[in-house]
Amino acid sequence: MKTFDYIRPASVSEAIAAAAQPGTSYLAAGTNLIDLMKVGVTRPDRLVDVTHLSGLDEIERLPDGAFRIGAMVRNATLAYDAAFAEAFPMVSEALLSGASAQLRNAATVGGNLLQRTRCAYFYDVESACNRRVAGSGCDALDGENSGHAVLGWSPSCIATHPSDFCVPLVALGAIIEVEGRNGRRDIPLDELHRLPGDHPERETVLEPGDLIVAVRLPAAVSAFAPHSRYLKLRERTSYAFAVVSAAAALKLEGGRIAQTRLALGSVAATPWRCREAEVALVGAEPTAETFMRAAEIALAEARPSGHNAHKIELARRILVRALGEAAAGTPLRPAALPASPFATTPGALAHV
Ligand code: SF4
Repeated sequence: MKTFDYIRPASVSEAIAAAAQPGTSYLAAGTNLIDLMKVGVTRPDRLVDVTHLSGLDEIERLPDGAFRIGAMVRNATLAYDAAFAEAFPMVSEALLSGASAQLRNAATVGGNLLQRTRCAYFYDVESACNRRVAGSGCDALDGENSGHAVLGWSPSCIATHPSDFCVPLVALGAIIEVEGRNGRRDIPLDELHRLPGDHPERETVLEPGDLIVAVRLPAAVSAFAPHSRYLKLRERTSYAFAVVSAAAALKLEGGRIAQTRLALGSVAATPWRCREAEVALVGAEPTAETFMRAAEIALAEARPSGHNAHKIELARRILVRALGEAAAGTPLRPAALPASPFATTPGALAHV
């Protein structure tokens, strides 16, 4: 591993000043960053440790009923917070479906948003990768690409964003609070990550020194809690990234869909909100035919980027399944295998 300077700032403003220098990365749990440093994918000159800064590890209920989650809150802490799980059960389920228990205990909310793609060529420094080295090419285009993007990709990069957590968050309209050199600003989560276009090396809209300090979920979206699910298809039932995943939330009134929120995961370089399908569902009865029509709309622009046409059909099916389960009602407790469409029996794991 390349040598680096380690900086332990006393405040957020000190951290931002230090991290604005070229060649600097923030260090939180390091569950992704340290792996990347070990294999030489990222080679920072200095790390700015933010793990000890006060005020970043709290889960707050704001006066207007919104939830504000500090960026240093650990994934497991948030998933098992009873009030949060009651208000946003599909977010809790998504967190519990990610990685392993050990990683969930360490990984942070802010780090989860900024984790890097799991494209194998990105991790192999001998491979051409435009995301790792701008302008170097993309070995995934003619390589093993069965798990790559089917939406929003470009010939420069066909990678996907691997987060589970981001999928229900983007569906629910989460807001990211960022502290930077010019003060604090809010960024809607669905504007944080960039599609690859001609510059896949630019993964987010963050500027040098920008520090994610919190994630907010508006009070109004807790009204989806009675009818919401996150489902994830993966190659094994735990400790695996999604092949495709879906977050579906409904408000039902008089036997019809009054409002809905939908998003797909692992289909693009960003968590993918399905706005046109949401619009199409409003006013319809919650039937299998309705959900299949919505899934067709959600995947209408999908195109294989390699040997991955199967992902389009899987994404349709997981969205239909998630909508059906959301319509049936959120389980009082998550299944023993959270987010698994094969183990949806509620009550097997008490977590609240
Ligand atoms: Fe790199 Fe993207 Fe190509 Fe993977 S798909 S090798 S991350 S440019």
